Amino acid sequence: NLYKTRFRSAVNSAPNDTRLLSKNQVQRRILVAGGAGFLGSHLCERLLRAGHRVICVDNFSTGLRRNVRHLTRFDTFSTVNQDIVEPIAVEIDEIYNLACPASPPHYQADPIHTMMTSVLGSLNLLELAVQHNARIFQASTSEIYGDPHIHPQVESYWGNVNSFGPRSCYDEGKRCAETLFFDFHKKYGTEIKIARIFNTYGPRMRPDDGRVVSNFIVQALRGEDITIYGDGSQTRSFCFVDDLIEGFIRLMNSAPSFQGPVNLGNPGEFTIGELATRVIEMTGSSSKIVHHPLPVDDPRQRRPDISLAKRELDWQPKVPLSAGLKETILYFDRLLAHTSRELVK
Ligand code: NAD
Ligand code: UDP
Repeated sequence: NLYKTRFRSAVNSAPNDTRLLSKNQVQRRILVAGGAGFLGSHLCERLLRAGHRVICVDNFSTGLRRNVRHLTRFDTFSTVNQDIVEPIAVEIDEIYNLACPASPPHYQADPIHTMMTSVLGSLNLLELAVQHNARIFQASTSEIYGDPHIHPQVESYWGNVNSFGPRSCYDEGKRCAETLFFDFHKKYGTEIKIARIFNTYGPRMRPDDGRVVSNFIVQALRGEDITIYGDGSQTRSFCFVDDLIEGFIRLMNSAPSFQGPVNLGNPGEFTIGELATRVIEMTGSSSKIVHHPLPVDDPRQRRPDISLAKRELDWQPKVPLSAGLKETILYFDRLLAHTSRELVK
């Protein structure tokens, strides 16, 4: 009941605002779980700019208030401080589920809660979707493929995942969430949309996020050692956040007959060593490269096959790594210049 009250008041505080909608568009009430995080804050902004009402539900575990503070100028935006592991009651038309820590150090800090976020959190949001006949989007992940044996990864590949290693709480939680989504679709006809997201970077990542792009940029800007885990020959494919959000919107608005899962990512593949060199060059940093041990179960190679996204969503990324890194470096440069080291942690 407490949750019901909280949600109702959050929704009621958002007056009906249709100014930004074009003639044929209908304003929707959209719940973004994890809306104060890196990706979630960009998604909320995009949906608000399109004229929709957005309810950001977040427990602020890895998300930051400053990521969404600028959105409070929209009277169609509201935030609710809640953990999605608890049941949710709110009137909505659409749900995006992005709630889950995404960086390995963050999701490994409380692995049981990470698992519960994906499993119980998805269950709660799916029940809400059934109740309101709402379309629901799941932020799934390339980690579904684990340390893949086939390359590039296609959606039909079942993956190579350890069920009890340090990454398992995240990987298996996300796999279980996909299963729940499909079983709700089969049993209740719920309209589901599943995106398998590959490594994405950009402004509003936390300086202490722990993922490779933010780590390298922050280290380079501070003149600290650049920490390559292992020999740096492992690969990743890096997608700029704006491209990814466009993919989210296209997937959510795709035909009801299309559920996915669909890979969303940039197929450009780079070694971690190459990424370090680029960041050092682009920042003009005097940082040295140092090597730390490779984390357990760290995938060797990762690159999306995006044929399905091209065909079904007419989507492909447009921002090359150099342009995306430039914007991200600029963001961190400003952030670090204006904030003390303690405050940006
Ligand atoms: P993030 O950590 O910045 O954002 C996650 C958000 O969810 C945060 O605001 C956090 O406070 C919130 N959250 C976490 N657990 C919650 C809970 N139990 N209840 C309510 N809120 C909770 O991460 P991100 O990079 O923005 O990732 C967003 C989503 O996309 C995640 O689900 C992640 O698994 C998925 N994803 C991201 C990437 C990527 O490269 N960024 C890749 C694959 C998948
Ligand atoms: N990595 C690294 N140095 C860092 C952070 C990460 O070499 O400071 C490596 C990490 O071991 C992995 C790759 O960069 O091989 C991508 O790591 P990230 O945590 O960004 O994403 P994920 O492993 O989940 O793809």
